[in-house]
Amino acid sequence: MPTLANTDLLRAQLYIDGQWVAADCGKTFAVTNPADGTKIIDIADGGAVETRRAIAAAETAFDSWRKVTAKERSATLKRWYQLIIEHREDLAQLMTAEQGKPLAESRGEVNYGAAFVEWFAEEGRRIYGDTIDANDPNQRIITRKQPVGVVAAITPWNFPIAMITRKVAPALAAGCTIVLKPAKETPLCALALAALGEAAGIPPGVFSVVTGSRASEIGAELTGNPSVRKLTFTGSTAIGKTLLAQCAETIKKTSMELGGNAPFIVFDDADLDEAVRGAMASKYRNAGQTCVCANRILVQESVYEAFAQKLVQAVAELKVGNGADDGVTIGPLINRAALDKVSSIVNCAVENGAEVLIGREGSRGAEENYYYPTVLANVNEAMDICHEEIFGPVAPLLTFHTEEEAIRIANATPYGLAAYFYARDIGRVSRVSEALDYGIVGVNEGIISTEVAPFGGMKESGIGREGSKYGIEDYLEIKYVCLGGVNR
Ligand code: NAP
Repeated sequence: MPTLANTDLLRAQLYIDGQWVAADCGKTFAVTNPADGTKIIDIADGGAVETRRAIAAAETAFDSWRKVTAKERSATLKRWYQLIIEHREDLAQLMTAEQGKPLAESRGEVNYGAAFVEWFAEEGRRIYGDTIDANDPNQRIITRKQPVGVVAAITPWNFPIAMITRKVAPALAAGCTIVLKPAKETPLCALALAALGEAAGIPPGVFSVVTGSRASEIGAELTGNPSVRKLTFTGSTAIGKTLLAQCAETIKKTSMELGGNAPFIVFDDADLDEAVRGAMASKYRNAGQTCVCANRILVQESVYEAFAQKLVQAVAELKVGNGADDGVTIGPLINRAALDKVSSIVNCAVENGAEVLIGREGSRGAEENYYYPTVLANVNEAMDICHEEIFGPVAPLLTFHTEEEAIRIANATPYGLAAYFYARDIGRVSRVSEALDYGIVGVNEGIISTEVAPFGGMKESGIGREGSKYGIEDYLEIKYVCLGGVNR
């Protein structure tokens, strides 16, 4: 159990229409610490009925929330931002307890997540329409942007705060109301955010949270209910496809932030020390459990040995352990299934000829989910590891000879979220950044997430963008008003 300065932030009930309530049936499910399997708390196990009630409350609240001025909505979001920052340490403790990431990363995520609330508090005041010259002198054409309506949000466990705020903040800033289903592994951060939102004055029904262990039941209600006008989802491509199909019945707007298979390319003109720093940040943050993690590291042949050696040295410095302990840089994987999946991907690569330069150890104990940071050499494109999202602290190294070959390998995937490359030649930097089929490209940079830039993928990595000035557009409808008879 994490020690909190404000114990009021540890919530175990659903938050629906401004009320903290148990599941109708009284059922609960356990939230556990992935570092040692211990139970943190039992929380309400909501389902379709509670979700329907939250949607109905959101529909009622939409009538008034949409009429609140942008300035007032912004002030409410700013209060929420302040409270998140004031409670940063407690939120970080909760996050490390339920998700496993090292405390330093949890503190960083609270800041990052809060930044979306601050950003959209500001952007919400800058929603503009147009006036357009009509072809007919008797007409005036005006466009205005209006909130989409009730939004449903489904979020993953790997960023238990930021994946929520980058949906909820733009939705509320735009004048929408929202019902959130967080991941079953990390509901405590979501409920703490709702408690702080309540304290900030977000009105009842405007932001509800339904926790539950039956994702498909809650998801069916969120996607099937005609009162929901938009679904925003972050998670795997497989579940994203299912939810898109479910949304088709009622033609909902959708935003999809899905899986990735990021290439990380090191060219022969790169600063190798910088490239290693970037690879460490991109690959091993959150124990390799991010959608933008380097998944395939492609190194030009002439610098391959030097890069591999420096990378192995850096990996040897990582400290594996409970994220709550001092100095730990790699926490546990989220659960046993994740550990098994990473082990199986690595074992398969090794059986097919990959060489372990460092790492490849599994769990330390029956209830622990640690995978030791690993670097694999002799990886080639035919191996499954190049086509699956590893979602663990494993760096597969491939070699290439020419720029064209690197681009071909990098783009040979149905995913298109993030890509990285290290090079200094200005022509190469321009050519490669244009040729990569990815929504986000880091050039000589391994960390690309910020609230000010548009985050999102191409191809099977998703639809839409989050953050930046574009992130609010997904929560707005454009209405065109044609004023006729002006001169009659
Ligand atoms: P996941 O299995 O797809 O789960 C994501 C969310 O969907 C969870 O809340 C989950 O609920 C819910 N869910 C699962 N099945 C559902 C269903 N049938 N109907 C409705 N909801 C359902 O993904 P994950 O393993 O949690 O997260 C990792 C994935 O997210 C990776 O692929 C990663 O790349 C992706 N991701 C993408 C981004 C991005 O911005 N593009 C950011 C972060 C993560 P339960 O937890 O209750 O099962």
